[in-house]
Amino acid sequence: MFDSLSDRLGDVFGRLRKRGALSEKDVDEALREVRIALLEADVALSVVKDFVAEVKKQAVGQEVVRSVSPAQMVVKIVNDHLIEVLGRETEELSLNAAPPVPILIVGLQGSGKTTSTAKIAYRLKNREKKKVLMASLDVRRPAAQEQLRVLGEQAEVPTLPVVPGQMPVDIAKRALQSARLQGYDVVLLDTAGRLHVDEQLMQEVAAVRDAVNPHETLLVADALTGQDAVNVAKQFDERVGVTGIMLTRVDGDGRGGAALSMRAVTGRPIKLIGVGEKMDALETFHPDRIANRILG
Ligand code: GDP
Repeated sequence: MFDSLSDRLGDVFGRLRKRGALSEKDVDEALREVRIALLEADVALSVVKDFVAEVKKQAVGQEVVRSVSPAQMVVKIVNDHLIEVLGRETEELSLNAAPPVPILIVGLQGSGKTTSTAKIAYRLKNREKKKVLMASLDVRRPAAQEQLRVLGEQAEVPTLPVVPGQMPVDIAKRALQSARLQGYDVVLLDTAGRLHVDEQLMQEVAAVRDAVNPHETLLVADALTGQDAVNVAKQFDERVGVTGIMLTRVDGDGRGGAALSMRAVTGRPIKLIGVGEKMDALETFHPDRIANRILG
């Protein structure tokens, strides 16, 4: 499908037989290929620019050691910096608070928010042996609360019973109160989404945040949305404060550039990835794997 970055750089450096330090001209030529590879992987332009500038700083003047080719050297510098930006360590959801730990799940409609909420519940229940309660705060789409209930049945995780007419902040408070009374460890609050970020949505999510003081606010974003993902992540982070990101549809054809963009723009860690529609299609995010995929 795509040429790998190593192949492309091999072509660039093919004429460069001599050893010695990488010159600015060689590096510039190589970085042109890097820039194309990142743009093809759907990394946002502003992020590509910063990335390339940083790699240039690191690469120019580097001695090419005998055992590697100039192309291999640049690929290594690019790869190392990519992992650096993506976050060197894997990070899990934090449950390090007094139970019931409230976790707010936010994101646009269609990002995979409700499915991801159920997957997370399933994982916390089975892996961490936690007692988990889920509640849907989406009162705009009548089917949304029912969707979470059905997914909850699949995951064998209870959902808060629906009280018709109740608004999101009140549902969230009721969920926490029930969880407290019934000894739950974690409460997952699935908020409403919209097709685009809008003021009303942000106000609603901010009001819920103020009411429950979540321990984690996880932004769910579709890995296939590429450039758009950056704006969405930025706006959610500015308005409601995101503590981590879950990327969905990492099983799709995309090359995962959204991961780099979102991490670089918000500085928030990507914690989890969705790799399918099934309940167990959830994995911890590994920066090195996405780095490989971005570079092709
Ligand atoms: P919401 O509107 O954000 O709550 O989105 P949903 O949870 O309803 O998900 C929308 C669609 O995306 C559903 O058909 C899900 O099964 C699907 N989906 C969610 N996460 C993933 C994923 O990681 N991979 C794939 N292939 N599909 C997913």
